[in-house]
Amino acid sequence: MTSTRQPKDRQTIDQDQFLTILSRENALARFEAALFPRAVPGEQCGLADALGRALADDVTAPIDVPPFDRSNVDGFAVRSADLSSAGEATPVRMIVNDEVIACGTQPVRPVLSGTATSIATGGPVPRGADAIVMVEHTQPAGARAIEIRRAASPGQFISYAGSDIARGEALLRAGTIIGSRETGMLAACGISQVLVARRPRVAIISTGDELVQPGSPLTPASIYDSNGAIVTAAITENGGEAAFLGAIPDDEPQLEAAMREALKTSDMLVLSGGTSKGAGDVSHRIIARLGRPGIIAHGVALKPGKPLCLAVCDGKPVVILPGFPTSAMFTFHDMIVPVLRRMAGLPPRSDAKVSAKVPVRIASELGRTEFVMVSLVEGADGLVAYPTGKGSGAITSFAQAEGLLRIDALADQMPAGAEAEVTLFTPHVRVPDLVVVGSHCTGLDLVTAQLSRAGLSVRS
Ligand code: AMP
Ligand code: MG
Repeated sequence: MTSTRQPKDRQTIDQDQFLTILSRENALARFEAALFPRAVPGEQCGLADALGRALADDVTAPIDVPPFDRSNVDGFAVRSADLSSAGEATPVRMIVNDEVIACGTQPVRPVLSGTATSIATGGPVPRGADAIVMVEHTQPAGARAIEIRRAASPGQFISYAGSDIARGEALLRAGTIIGSRETGMLAACGISQVLVARRPRVAIISTGDELVQPGSPLTPASIYDSNGAIVTAAITENGGEAAFLGAIPDDEPQLEAAMREALKTSDMLVLSGGTSKGAGDVSHRIIARLGRPGIIAHGVALKPGKPLCLAVCDGKPVVILPGFPTSAMFTFHDMIVPVLRRMAGLPPRSDAKVSAKVPVRIASELGRTEFVMVSLVEGADGLVAYPTGKGSGAITSFAQAEGLLRIDALADQMPAGAEAEVTLFTPHVRVPDLVVVGSHCTGLDLVTAQLSRAGLSVRS
């Protein structure tokens, strides 16, 4: 029978070649097993450039902070025992030592019983003293004496050496993202250089004869390459050093040359488009020649995103995202971000999840993990997540959603009123003040423009 196969049959066969569709979990587990464990390479980085980077190693405090016993107030350093009898009716008179301890002044005279030394906030506590009395609680009593009318407890207004950070203490752990607070701790310890995880270099290639780069005029039947820009930005957002290499036509030799070149200088390669196994879809054939073990999953039970292709070539992840921009982004956020963050030494993106109630029933295909884009609204008792889908070809539905929710492969729906976990597209998403649901109306734009100028965020 095979000898009489018609061209029409060939078409069907080519279209049906997602031989083994893996579940989302299985595909991710296989992908991760082929990539990890692996060392996260580190690089030395100046403190100013370390902002937003992940520490590659634990940092141990090299000194005590504060480095000496320090006064917390302006006043007088005293021996607390001298003031045990002090009270409103029983002032204690103290001789003021011939020394003023300003910030940065190393004291030379000890505080002997019956004496006090003038000290500024931040000044080192002189020998003999064990408490500071605030200047407000003293009265001058002649040329070189003061009176004090309240007792002082030992240690009062003193920060002891190492009380903030103790030398040898684990200051920050590997994987910590350095923000301004962490920078402050490092600076307080005198650390000017830290070992941070090197950002994985990720090359991005769009594929398709129809793609034109933004900035160039559209030719007939062409579209702008949006995946290139989105994927590049999303890689940067998740700790990668993105290098966008442009769009390559569906030409096997040309694409192979570009992929080989990209892999020479990068740790990871992300393509989009051309993942079906039809004629003209060539990238998966090239991957098979790029290194071992090659393709890990081609066809994953995701909706949208079934044609996702995951490969590892000589230790480097090579990914082909589906061509439709929203499918590309769902699969990128769900399947690629965890791997990228791990390679970048970053913790899983736990900060970018919120819980929200789904007000309407969402039907779902059994057997495929389904992603639904949602817009978030602040409801009377918590967040509410409205589905915003326009179909996987619509780029605006992605931009207008705050995040996505996932419906399990084994569920055929998410019932109205269900509490769902929403993965935010970026951690700094702002929930709109007003959401208008309905079909598009340019008249509405006139109203929403006014509202947005008044500082309200509106989504329609
Ligand atoms: P493909 O997977 O190459 O068959 O592409 C599926 C759909 O996504 C087609 O409509 C393509 O034109 C579109 N597409 C592919 N790549 C891109 C891209 N980089 N930017 C925007 N749309 C794309
Ligand atoms: Mg294509």
